[in-house]
Amino acid sequence: MALFSLIYDRFLLSSKKRKFRESGIKDREIGNTPLIRLFHYSSSYSRLMYAKMECENPTRSAKDRVAQYILNKAIGAGRINKDTTVIEASSGNTGLALARLSNKMGIKCIITIKDKVSATKISDLKQQGAKVIICSAKADRSSLDNYITKAEHLAETIEDAFYVNQNYNPYNTEAHYNSTGPEIWDQTGGAITHLVGTIGTGGTLSGTAKYLKEMNPEIQVIAVDAKGSVLQHFYQTRELDKSKASSYNMDGVGKKFIPANVRFEYFDQVLQVSDIEAYHSCVELNHEESIFVGHSSGAVMEGMKQIAHECDRKACIVGIFPDHGSKYEKSIFSNQWLEDKGFI
Ligand code: PMP
Repeated sequence: MALFSLIYDRFLLSSKKRKFRESGIKDREIGNTPLIRLFHYSSSYSRLMYAKMECENPTRSAKDRVAQYILNKAIGAGRINKDTTVIEASSGNTGLALARLSNKMGIKCIITIKDKVSATKISDLKQQGAKVIICSAKADRSSLDNYITKAEHLAETIEDAFYVNQNYNPYNTEAHYNSTGPEIWDQTGGAITHLVGTIGTGGTLSGTAKYLKEMNPEIQVIAVDAKGSVLQHFYQTRELDKSKASSYNMDGVGKKFIPANVRFEYFDQVLQVSDIEAYHSCVELNHEESIFVGHSSGAVMEGMKQIAHECDRKACIVGIFPDHGSKYEKSIFSNQWLEDKGFI
């Protein structure tokens, strides 16, 4: 087996894959996503509104930035070799971005995922060569059927494992501090007054907000949490009250614990949006702006609408839209799914 692995790596694996693994990934398709004007909403609310289209990244989400950044840090620290297995617990997007880059480097990738995640995301992961382990969304942290506990267990038991740990790895936030933040600043010519974004691990909004507040401390940052998550209550009280948690369907947004990458000190408000409100905004975005984006982008749009009334007329509101609608064809964009969940 060891001999086969050596022959495979030296002779069968393309030199490009080996080069990526040894000197780092430089994928020109990642980042520099468009910032588009939301014409319908800007005119209805008489305030400038823009969407940062993270679905324009190669795996159609903001997580390509994080995966590239964290893997390059690991390569730089000598933590990735030909026998490495990249392991992560993911709502699908980080997993897919990691699976793609692991594939490019010719190394293994295992993703643990909750059973509530859209079926399209699970099949996309398998297509990128990842091993997918489906865990119960209801299992608590003490159970091996919990997706994070499972990933931690695999990371401890598999030799040469590299555990990404996006909730606690500070490079998640740093990836956005170094890319999404500067891009939004440049694309608005420094005119941004309000930043709206969802919080899951917290990396996207915390990193972007940190950069923008350094450029202009007056910028207001509005975090959008999911109804059913504990993050908003923690922000308001600094107490983790698990009795506030309930089940919901929105992938990637909200938590039942407090990830270190949710940097509350950069947020001026935390709103909560329900599954159904986010869904309606997705449909509206599709009709009014011809934009096909995912469930959490609908939550961001809902947040932008809620705060628009409170803002000065000269406001320039930017929402970070995390991913693409095609990932939800078997969930919120399926009539059967909507019926099953009682949305219609
Ligand atoms: N939306 C979706 C679809 C996601 O997958 C995630 C990632 N968990 C988020 C929003 C939130 O992003 P972050 O983890 O950077 O807070």
